[in-house]
Amino acid sequence: MPKKPKISSGERRNWLELSENGDPIIGIAQISGRDVRSVRAHIDKARLERNFEYAQRDQLRDALQGHQKDMLRLLRDLKGSINLPVLDDHEPVGLDFGLEDLWSPSDLARNRESPLPHRSIVIDGLDDPRSTAVYKLIRNVNGPQRIELVPEVTRLWRALKEHIRQDPLWRHEAAWLRSCLDELNRCAELNRAIRENAEKIFGLKVGLRGGPEEPWLAPGAITWVRTRLTNDALGNYVRIFDEDLDEASPGSLRSLYGQELTMGIEEAKDKLQRTLTAMEGSREVAAATESYKHLQEMTENIHDAIDEYLLIHYITGGCGLCQKLGGQ
Ligand SMILES: [Zn+2]
Repeated sequence: MPKKPKISSGERRNWLELSENGDPIIGIAQISGRDVRSVRAHIDKARLERNFEYAQRDQLRDALQGHQKDMLRLLRDLKGSINLPVLDDHEPVGLDFGLEDLWSPSDLARNRESPLPHRSIVIDGLDDPRSTAVYKLIRNVNGPQRIELVPEVTRLWRALKEHIRQDPLWRHEAAWLRSCLDELNRCAELNRAIRENAEKIFGLKVGLRGGPEEPWLAPGAITWVRTRLTNDALGNYVRIFDEDLDEASPGSLRSLYGQELTMGIEEAKDKLQRTLTAMEGSREVAAATESYKHLQEMTENIHDAIDEYLLIHYITGGCGLCQKLGGQ
């Protein structure tokens, strides 16, 4: 008796469907010319195969969803990373007039082994450990040099780029990076100009710590002057000079100086006012204001571009990782 051909998976899948639609197994066995036991066994096998297929499909769908979620999270973090610097709170990245010379020689010696904390500074709000997208500002004594993406994110970053390679988002990102660096540099220039004036007017050097018995001017004084100047030039609300200082004095006015007020409060106020007057309407203030406004615009552009994806909860296109999952 010739052997009957092997039962294919398509055939058993067909039997499973017939059986689930109510056909009796005996009937299926008759039509297909197989014995009942074998039909029953193959229907069971088809069911297992189908369950496995479903499970696999679910797993793939979950994996693709996870992949999408990862990229959306990256975009959300990216958006969170791209902040307009808050003028009043701009000190960590803004105070760039060569911080090396703010350190005393002993501080420098102590920190020779470990890198100085200001050598690479994470841009405001970017140091959140939960965040995956982080830009890092690299600067040296000459001020801000470049902004880098922290390398740990590169694989997912590359995947995202593969997905939406042609998106205007990247053009906006590049424009934002340029604008951000420019703004930081204008801010640093303004700091330098204020510092020069302040050192002359106060007759004190700016530093983080003076030598023993030696008065000095704290960097906070420069930030304070800069904040007032830029807010004023941008048309933001600025408190009356005395009011601003009265709230601060004498404790906080002291923070504008090194350790002890080495001059009377009135004299200190007068010198701060003179520093402000010397800088008002200067080229550096105008440049810093312009670049801040430009950065504002670039920040809005990239936020909008990112929002397009965050609002539809879907990253179009595909990448090498999706391909592994059998996606696009
Ligand atoms: Zn992908």
